[in-house]
Amino acid sequence: MNILDKITDDFISEIIGKDVLNLLQYLRKKSNVSEFKLAEKLNITVNQTRNMLYRLYSYSLVDFTRKKDKKKGWYIYYWDFYPDRALNVALTHKNKRLEILKNLLKKEETGQYFSCPDNDVRFLLEQAIEHGFKCPECDKVLVQENNTRKIQNMMRTIDELEKEINEVNKILTEKREEELKKIEASKKRDKRKLKKPIRRIVKKTKTKRKKPAKKKPKKTLKKKVSKRKTISKHSKRKFPKKIFKKKAKRKLKK
Ligand SMILES: [Zn+2]
Repeated sequence: MNILDKITDDFISEIIGKDVLNLLQYLRKKSNVSEFKLAEKLNITVNQTRNMLYRLYSYSLVDFTRKKDKKKGWYIYYWDFYPDRALNVALTHKNKRLEILKNLLKKEETGQYFSCPDNDVRFLLEQAIEHGFKCPECDKVLVQENNTRKIQNMMRTIDELEKEINEVNKILTEKREEELKKIEASKKRDKRKLKKPIRRIVKKTKTKRKKPAKKKPKKTLKKKVSKRKTISKHSKRKFPKKIFKKKAKRKLKK
């Protein structure tokens, strides 16, 4: 499992519950999965599946599309998991925790703490003075706390958190840079593609101009044919008359 998935899963199991991790693993591989199929694959009831999905949905980690079942008349919900969104939520959560931890560390480093030997209470110096350095629960005398180990532990946790956040941020910026490079490369490809069709169009228009010239003689041929037909129709009727006239003229000349 890569670090991005691990951070998401850590966050989800902590905030939403470990029980949804199997469901998430399935949704990571597939898209548009119906809740019935999810229930079947995970071997749980549809209601249990819906409960998990709604918990994830409340953090916008999954989303659905619904389609009406024409035969049964009810809606079927198809689910998708959004790993990028989940990682974002997990990262925001981590950053908030880091901020809180840093504030707590500051308090530990600057304040003087007094606590009950039975660990009933833990007071800052001012509060301890207010209570006369006595535990309000068991009346035992409060003892000044040596919090160096606590501070060291906090510093270690902060350090680990910061490293983790930095590593994820580094991976994310690398990913974004790769995506930007891909986008720029595809833009260049599109520009080249855009230039080519223009040439093709010019060629096509040239050929189109030639075509009508070729067609023209065909049309005239058709017209000629039709004319011939009319001529022949007339000629059938008129030819004998003309011959008759010619014969008549010859007779007259004679
Ligand atoms: Zn006490």
